[in-house]
Amino acid sequence: MLPVFNARGCGSASLFVPTGPILSYTIGYGKVLSVNMFVIDNAIWIRLGSFAGIFLLMAVWEIAAPRRVLRTPKGARWFNNLSITALNSLVGRFIFPLQAAALALVAQERGLGLFHYLNVPSLPAGVLSIVLLDLAIYLQHVVFHRVRVFWYFHGMHHTDLDIDVTTGARFHPVEIVLSLLIKMGIIVLLGTPAWSFVAFEVLLNATSMFNHSNISIGTAVDRVLRLIVVTPDMHRVHHSVIIGEHDSNFGFNLPWWDRLFHTYKGQPRDGHRDMVIGLANFRDPKRLGLVRLILLPFLERKKF
Ligand SMILES: [Zn+2]
Ligand SMILES: [Zn+2]
Repeated sequence: MLPVFNARGCGSASLFVPTGPILSYTIGYGKVLSVNMFVIDNAIWIRLGSFAGIFLLMAVWEIAAPRRVLRTPKGARWFNNLSITALNSLVGRFIFPLQAAALALVAQERGLGLFHYLNVPSLPAGVLSIVLLDLAIYLQHVVFHRVRVFWYFHGMHHTDLDIDVTTGARFHPVEIVLSLLIKMGIIVLLGTPAWSFVAFEVLLNATSMFNHSNISIGTAVDRVLRLIVVTPDMHRVHHSVIIGEHDSNFGFNLPWWDRLFHTYKGQPRDGHRDMVIGLANFRDPKRLGLVRLILLPFLERKKF
């Protein structure tokens, strides 16, 4: 039976469809479903809370133990990057009334996806989904570098002249929408449990802020940590102005994909303190204001 969202409880998970509400849930629908529903109901707070917490932690850490001296004024960059973050949140909420996590619940109810077909329990299905979604994001990142039309949009992320915690959320809204569509496709294909999709999104957000941050964790700690997660030193190589370096280290969460597909580069040629961040043709901060950044893929294609 298809559960129906009632009017009271579904906050962020409401499904606005012309035929009226199609999902609702009651207690007693089963433990896994309850966990999924709790996560869907509170997804926005879970995501917002973790974003604010990790952002604050990284921002303070960057002041206490910076890895590099930033080359451009922080104020203008932070204004741009945080405005883009806010814009992306709005885009996500208004373009997709059907939340990706709610889509996972619909897939579950209809028995769609590989894990449902194979009757894989929620926990292993969720963990596997997180790993496979991470692989998909790695592949998407490679494609966004290699295919010209996608690079115009992803390239905006790379025009930041410094790299710090705010760079981790500086993505063009078109890239955000494309990425969400890809993730929604994977959810239906795999039958990803709703809780694990929200967990993946929170993880991706947190690791993105962590691995873009301008923090010093020490080379010994970095060496061990980068065996299990992408570290700031590892991702910074990807923001190098040198083409061979920015065409490496595409991973966001797990560092294994880069090693597996031979796109791993340990350190930047010029060292972390002296390396130049950004793209060769976009060096003037005055031409990288908020409105220009959004229009960059349309106005400055030749420079990419
Ligand atoms: Zn990139
Ligand atoms: Zn990046």
